[in-house]
Amino acid sequence: MSGESVFLSLGSNLGQREENLLMAVKALRDCLRELRCSSVYETRPLYVRKQPNFLNMVVAGLCLLQPAELLRQILSIELRMGRDRNHYIPKGPRIIDIDILLFGEQIIKQEKLTVPHPHLKERQFVLVPLLELEPELKDPESGRPFSESLQKLGDQGVYIFRA
Ligand code: AMP
Repeated sequence: MSGESVFLSLGSNLGQREENLLMAVKALRDCLRELRCSSVYETRPLYVRKQPNFLNMVVAGLCLLQPAELLRQILSIELRMGRDRNHYIPKGPRIIDIDILLFGEQIIKQEKLTVPHPHLKERQFVLVPLLELEPELKDPESGRPFSESLQKLGDQGVYIFRA
């Protein structure tokens, strides 16, 4: 079996931001085969504005795990990398954040997991690297190309950090 085509969003705005992303990518190699990485982008924080800029990227790969198991692995990587959920400010600074954007064509609405990621289409810092990897990608819910969603967004301050 070849596995589902999965897209993950990675972000970091604390400590050695680029190293944090690379460490997460390395750990994700245990969950994804044929892994591909977008460029790294420096992005302005969207929701909680008074915090350092983020570095963001998207990772694609083939996943043999079930979605809930992939989420469990992701949470474990975040924890191992020192993500502190006791002092957690929602949408605030973090060493590493990993979100499941897409899991094949699956539409998942569970208590702990929503896929496609509910904020995907409002975030330039997600759509730009996602479409860099897969320009023709479509939303499995609406069938519409994600490029349409990106066109609708204003400038949110997303710049190439490392191609
Ligand atoms: P945060 O780290 O603040 O992005 O939130 C993580 C929590 O969001 C996890 O504990 C998950 O249970 C939940 N969650 C729901 N949907 C997703 C998704 N598509 N990707 C990652 N986490 C998700």
